[in-house]
Amino acid sequence: MTARILDGKALAAAIEGSLHEEVEAFATASGRAPRLVVVLVGDLPASASYVAAKARAAARVGIDAEVVRATGSCDTASLVALVRGIAHGSHGPVDGILVQLPLPRQVDTLAVLDTVPADLDVDGFHPENAGLLSQGRPRFIPCTAAGVQRLLVDARIATAGRHAVIVGRSDIVGKPLALLLASRGPGGDATVTLCHSRTTDLADHCRAADILVAAVGQPGLITADMVRPGATVIDVGINRVGEDGGSRLVGDVDFAAVAAVAGAITPVPGGVGPLTVAMLLANTLLAAELRIGRR
Ligand code: NAD
Repeated sequence: MTARILDGKALAAAIEGSLHEEVEAFATASGRAPRLVVVLVGDLPASASYVAAKARAAARVGIDAEVVRATGSCDTASLVALVRGIAHGSHGPVDGILVQLPLPRQVDTLAVLDTVPADLDVDGFHPENAGLLSQGRPRFIPCTAAGVQRLLVDARIATAGRHAVIVGRSDIVGKPLALLLASRGPGGDATVTLCHSRTTDLADHCRAADILVAAVGQPGLITADMVRPGATVIDVGINRVGEDGGSRLVGDVDFAAVAAVAGAITPVPGGVGPLTVAMLLANTLLAAELRIGRR
């Protein structure tokens, strides 16, 4: 079997197309574009390139995005003060704040993230937004989890009554995705198993999956023998491999071998990544519309 390739890049472009129209309608109604402020700390090349991609995508749909930089030697207090200031308008009107992760080791990441007010939390990390998601009445859904669900719905891959196995239990990806896939409604109603670093017999769990999601950060973790023939495989992992000059991005899935077994599979790059960005834009527009009572 050769798996159907789930093209996240094409879907993200289509989503951006409709967002562009909605952003224009918002701007006509409110007299301004939705506004996103991204906080970029330090000089990690990967973070800089993710932030640049987010800013470019925002510009494509008409969202005004500003990148605010902080030095990598900053401490928790100064970052908390910066984020608090942005929330109070120090960098102009704001509908959404995103703090690009990871933060430097000396910084208390949770303390900084908790400073982002729930109504500006377009990443969906605030306890209030996580709580709303867990109660089945989501407001801002973490972007990668939302992107994975959107991809499944768009590809008409049934989730209701199917067994979804998610490998990775982070607050950013695995945990919210488990909640989403188990929640009622389109793209939900799945039976979910959440695996992690302490899971025994990982391969057995994976082989039981109709839908297998890898969100770990370990190249080659999911091999062909761990995939039931015909299963859908979603690769969230982003890993840079190879020596300088020849470095390339791969996911957590042994793509070539697994594509010969799976029914459908996402590539890396061009799978989940572009959808994460599209969902960030959708959350920013939602935040702006909620602010002026349009939703
Ligand atoms: P994380 O480090 O916070 O969590 C990793 C998870 O994997 C943990 O829950 C851990 O228990 C689990 N794990 C580690 N080793 C394991 C093993 N051997 N077997 C089973 N589980 C194991 O990572 P994260 O922030 O959730 O990101 C995971 C990956 O997804 C990374 O590669 C990251 O770059 C990528 N990512 C991609 C996107 C995207 O848009 N495509 C967005 C966010 C993260």
